[in-house]
Amino acid sequence: MNFTAVTTEIDNAMKEIVFAEVDEKTMKIAPEDFAGEGQFDEHFRCQVCTDVVFDPKQCSAGKCQKLVCDTCITDWLGKKDTCPNCSEKFEAVRNLSRFELNILNAYKFKCVKCKDTYTYAGAKDHFKECSKMFGCPLECDKEDTFLEKEDILDHLNDMCPKVPVNCNMCEKDTERGKQNDHKCSSDDLLVKNAKLQDEKK
Ligand SMILES: [Zn+2]
Ligand SMILES: [Zn+2]
Ligand SMILES: [Zn+2]
Ligand SMILES: [Zn+2]
Ligand SMILES: [Zn+2]
Repeated sequence: MNFTAVTTEIDNAMKEIVFAEVDEKTMKIAPEDFAGEGQFDEHFRCQVCTDVVFDPKQCSAGKCQKLVCDTCITDWLGKKDTCPNCSEKFEAVRNLSRFELNILNAYKFKCVKCKDTYTYAGAKDHFKECSKMFGCPLECDKEDTFLEKEDILDHLNDMCPKVPVNCNMCEKDTERGKQNDHKCSSDDLLVKNAKLQDEKK
């Protein structure tokens, strides 16, 4: 059997990357990425988005003192005026105390893209640096494949198992990683043959 890569699919995948906006979500830190000593203190989880608080603000109502990201609470208060945690009226956002901020700033996280460790205080810088890396646009191995933009075309051309390939015999598409399992069905071959006969006429 002979297969050719379907190049239009590769072109589309590349366009997706080249024209992609920088994803705001890359600024998110998942508490699961915590790589410091001990355990992640749940106190630093945002009550709205459930990620690690970014630019943290604190509910000032009574005993609540729960934390939310600045952007999260701004969005939230556009719709409701109560705290997402205690449901009291969200009077004012308080900044985090120095003491708490120091703890949070020293927290270490492991980057899902480059596997390096960064501190919370250095997260913005790290994300800027790391925003040059992209996951495979065909999502061949979502967890582990992060590549620099320049390397993605090579990855798609040479090894990505999700690249669609076209069978020269029956003209059906399959994925590169599955081409060994491909068997032309006799129906497809008949259709192909009929087409060839038509073309000859
Ligand atoms: Zn949030
Ligand atoms: Zn509250
Ligand atoms: Zn990184
Ligand atoms: Zn891939
Ligand atoms: Zn085939």
